[in-house]
Amino acid sequence: MSRSGNLFVISGPSGDGKGTILREVLEQIDDGWYSISVTTRDPRFNETEGEDYYFVDDARFDELVRTDGLLEWAPVHTKRYGTPRAPIQTHIDNGEQVLLDIDVAGALQIKESMPECVMVFIEPPSMEILEARLRGRGTDSEEQIGHRLSEAVNELSLKSRYNYTVVNDELEHAVTQVVDIVDTHASDKENEDHVCSAT
Ligand code: 5GP
Repeated sequence: MSRSGNLFVISGPSGDGKGTILREVLEQIDDGWYSISVTTRDPRFNETEGEDYYFVDDARFDELVRTDGLLEWAPVHTKRYGTPRAPIQTHIDNGEQVLLDIDVAGALQIKESMPECVMVFIEPPSMEILEARLRGRGTDSEEQIGHRLSEAVNELSLKSRYNYTVVNDELEHAVTQVVDIVDTHASDKENEDHVCSAT
């Protein structure tokens, strides 16, 4: 039986392993769909246009904002990031489990406009481990690392606004928890639909 579509908003400090968790979750969920964001930041050496992000210049981003093409957007680490609006509802209506990896400011905007969304905060086990992970990935300058760490403190202060917190102490465990969250909500909807159609 196919499941009803849902929107899952995943946030957490940069370098907390969200990306890896989400890739694994998508492997384990047949009906998952990942929303690719638009950003004005430059691609990293290991990133691909249309797979990691749609990389755009400021003029194109301005146009997307002006034409209401973004479901939410926010400045993050001196650049802008946004979620293309059009595909989200389409994939939810298709019965898919839509996953967004966005910052806390964007997540709170979505909570306002789509209160039925499920908010999941991925927390690093400690600030020391977060710092080590940011250095270990070797993609950011010292200045960027410092900026991302101070942003992390702000993001962690907002985790109580989320429905769930998952501590990324061990990848497999964190992935299982996120898959369980998705399955719980997708199944709840399935049951609700069943009740509705039976009456
Ligand atoms: P990074 O530059 O490391 O890829 O991402 C930096 C931050 O931007 C991450 O915390 C990520 O969740 C956030 N981000 C990525 N895409 C979006 C988006 O579409 N909207 C918002 N608000 N944040 C995003």
